[in-house]
Amino acid sequence: MAVSKHAIPSLSEYQCQICLEILIEPVTLPCNHTLCKPCFLSTIEKANLCCPFCRRWISSWTRYHTRRNSLVNMELWETIQKHYPNECKLRVSGQESEKVVDDYQPVRVYSIVLLIAVIN
Ligand SMILES: [Zn+2]
Ligand SMILES: [Zn+2]
Repeated sequence: MAVSKHAIPSLSEYQCQICLEILIEPVTLPCNHTLCKPCFLSTIEKANLCCPFCRRWISSWTRYHTRRNSLVNMELWETIQKHYPNECKLRVSGQESEKVVDDYQPVRVYSIVLLIAVIN
């Protein structure tokens, strides 16, 4: 699935071949097959760490990137969001209502409020 960097690809180029919806949080496997993260999670669990398209064994690859939170092909994901922000928003918001865990959120820095008692 070669995506040209020059022209704006059609929406069908950004379609997940499993759920046939826009690729959100695309995961590109070492065999160059791409699927959306929700499909990746459900398929990998069901298919025992094999690529659902070519059955390549991706167990160590998955473990490696899960640990580093680098499963999502960020370059592709940003491109998709740039070209199809509305489609992405629609799908992402639909997902949130189904309570899909977003596990790649940046770590939030909580400000610590110090209550200083001034003793005279
Ligand atoms: Zn999908
Ligand atoms: Zn594959």
